[in-house]
Amino acid sequence: MVSTVYRNAHHGHCTWHLSQNMKTRCKKKGATEMFLHIAKIYKTFEFDIAYNDFRNRYPEAAQYLDERESLDRWTRAYCPKTSYNIMTTNGVESINARLLEERKLPIIALLDSLQKLASSWFARYRHASIASNTNLTPTIEGNLRSRFTDAQGMQFFELGCLEFDVRSRGHSAIVDLESKRCTCRVFDIDRISCAHAIAASWLAKIDLYDMCSEYYFTMSWCMAYSETVYPVPEENEWPHNINFPLVLPHLLEKRVGTRKQNRIPLIGEFSKR
Ligand SMILES: [Zn+2]
Repeated sequence: MVSTVYRNAHHGHCTWHLSQNMKTRCKKKGATEMFLHIAKIYKTFEFDIAYNDFRNRYPEAAQYLDERESLDRWTRAYCPKTSYNIMTTNGVESINARLLEERKLPIIALLDSLQKLASSWFARYRHASIASNTNLTPTIEGNLRSRFTDAQGMQFFELGCLEFDVRSRGHSAIVDLESKRCTCRVFDIDRISCAHAIAASWLAKIDLYDMCSEYYFTMSWCMAYSETVYPVPEENEWPHNINFPLVLPHLLEKRVGTRKQNRIPLIGEFSKR
């Protein structure tokens, strides 16, 4: 269903939850930290070297990953789609935590509660985005400024029309400003200029902000929270010309003993099933 509606979406897993599941197979010190580090590597050949090293140090953990997940599900280097550097399930976590009590409520009360929660979040981020005085969202603006500092002192050579060879500390990167790509892959994946692209943009006299994805702009952030989430109206205000289907509850077998309360499983936990 998801792949039908979102045809360009890719099914990935939360690396943090995967790392927690991995602990059931490998509890050696440093395995989680190294796993989280290699999952974020940009270049495939650098990832391959690092994953071989990881496999030698933590064979049980590597076996756990190889048996359950293909590389495109958890590595940045092999992800076939754009990830925009935002890899988090914080929203799911917050809803999970907030619904512990509300989930016991009848459906209308639950919807009311969800509406209040969504409205409060929308208001918080709407106010924050309006108050922001930067072109990009504060975090991304900070990233760009930091990369701008890194770009100082880099050497660059014009190769072709909007293509540059940018060198720093003995390493070379090829930047193509037209396709917004760099051989370091940071520019391609993050959709924010890497330090090499910043140096190249300076030489080409191109505005740095023109090189960033529109999704990172404060205006996009503001628009994302501009919609209103309305409460469920009073029952006597519901339209009367709708034939509501009769929805019967599921036939459930009543279990003996105390009812176990399950939370909604998180993305990484599906692999346990
Ligand atoms: Zn680069």
